[in-house]
Amino acid sequence: MVIEPADASADKIRCDACPVMCYIKPGAAGACDRYANHNGELVRVDPHIILERTVSHGGRLVPFQASGDWDGKIVQGPSTIVTAIGAGTTYPDYKPAPFIVSSEVDGVDMVTVVTEGIFSYCGVKVKIDTDRYLGPETATVRAQGEAVGHVTTSEYGSQMLSLGGVHHLTGGSKKEGRVTCDTLMDLSNCRPVELSIDGGSTVLVQAGHAPVVNGIREERMRVGCGSATIGMFAKQWQGKIDEVVVVDDHITGVLSEHQAGKQLDIPDTGIKMKGRRSTPGRYFQVAEPGTGWGGTNISDPLAILGPFDAKTARPGTTLLMVSTTGEHAAYYELDDGLRPIEKEMPANLKQSVERIQENCEPALCTVLFMAGAGGSLRAGVTENPVRLTRSVKDALTRVTSGGAAVYVWPGGGITYMVDVTQMPANAFGYVPTPALVAPIEFTMKLSDYAALGGHMDYVRPLSSLKDNAEILAWPKKGPIPEQGG
Ligand code: SF4
Repeated sequence: MVIEPADASADKIRCDACPVMCYIKPGAAGACDRYANHNGELVRVDPHIILERTVSHGGRLVPFQASGDWDGKIVQGPSTIVTAIGAGTTYPDYKPAPFIVSSEVDGVDMVTVVTEGIFSYCGVKVKIDTDRYLGPETATVRAQGEAVGHVTTSEYGSQMLSLGGVHHLTGGSKKEGRVTCDTLMDLSNCRPVELSIDGGSTVLVQAGHAPVVNGIREERMRVGCGSATIGMFAKQWQGKIDEVVVVDDHITGVLSEHQAGKQLDIPDTGIKMKGRRSTPGRYFQVAEPGTGWGGTNISDPLAILGPFDAKTARPGTTLLMVSTTGEHAAYYELDDGLRPIEKEMPANLKQSVERIQENCEPALCTVLFMAGAGGSLRAGVTENPVRLTRSVKDALTRVTSGGAAVYVWPGGGITYMVDVTQMPANAFGYVPTPALVAPIEFTMKLSDYAALGGHMDYVRPLSSLKDNAEILAWPKKGPIPEQGG
């Protein structure tokens, strides 16, 4: 780190860890609160984090009476994981990464290169487990009134948002860039963020917590679509009820018409559904999307039924209508005019609704941070950046983020995603360019590092770090990445 007394009279020093190049007064922090002037020395404010894994935190056990080369340790493999959290950033990128750490794992010399990467090309993918309609696909998602992303294609039982990205960080107004940066950082640090969707809902999102849609905390994600629910529970309804409709904004299921009902010889009931029939017992577009039954806009399920067919229907026919989460359910019997009349639900049908609820997993928000590490930060690892990319693709180099395993996309570059709940707290920062600061670690054999043109003169032993680092227990239950240490 270069420290230039820029203004000797004020004893300011200049931080060169990012393009902002702050002048920092004694006792003050720079614009990102990551660096400060401590008695004339530029210091990284947060501690450097090293993780140590233990059995209680998911370390893999050596089998009893392990092979003869067992060294007596309870936990097999590397016990220390060097993260980039608090390691700092070097700028410009040709400078070697802040820490290039050597260690020996199972007799193999390894090296881990760590840096807090500055990402202008980054965002988060948010999965929100809810049937409730959040907004139309491609609708703008806003935080504090600023556009920070959009609604993307929904997944099975979940609504998906794509937030951030270089367009919102750099391509709009200054305020849009700042709010986008704040939103990404808060979501990535597992803090709650309120988002509003044009033409849709307001949702409170926090990684690892239930979403709150229009002020209502979501309890469960759906057991399946309406058709799948019929398929799962048809046998349990057989003999207890004449007809079941599972109300779903996407695919509403009808027991007597569905293949499951046919195979169980459930007779026709004369039911008539609104919407577009797809295949037998499966209906699309029975209503508009919304926050009512099964992600539709209806509060009265009878609104999706037409009149029963007088040739087939008979008075006394019993009908259960239920949503895909079991949150909504009602029981009806046809009167002499073949009109469904709501009645008290029999106990054995209540049990089937409870069974649907039991099979619905707790609704959660999931936040995956996604960034491109295939750009300039590779120069902090090697003098020949493309070799790092090739090494990652060849599985010679392992990429982690804050010690957490990442998914690296196929194709060009090193575009990765990481579950932010698997990372230590407050792993993310920002710089006001604006851009996110995220930890990234590259681990490989020392010989491979030398072969790809690594900064070998800067390799230092792990022992040289431990005195000044904060050592945390491996915090998560997820897979522990292979890493030197
Ligand atoms: S924003 Fe932070 S990293 Fe960038 S120059 Fe200022 S103090 Fe240093």
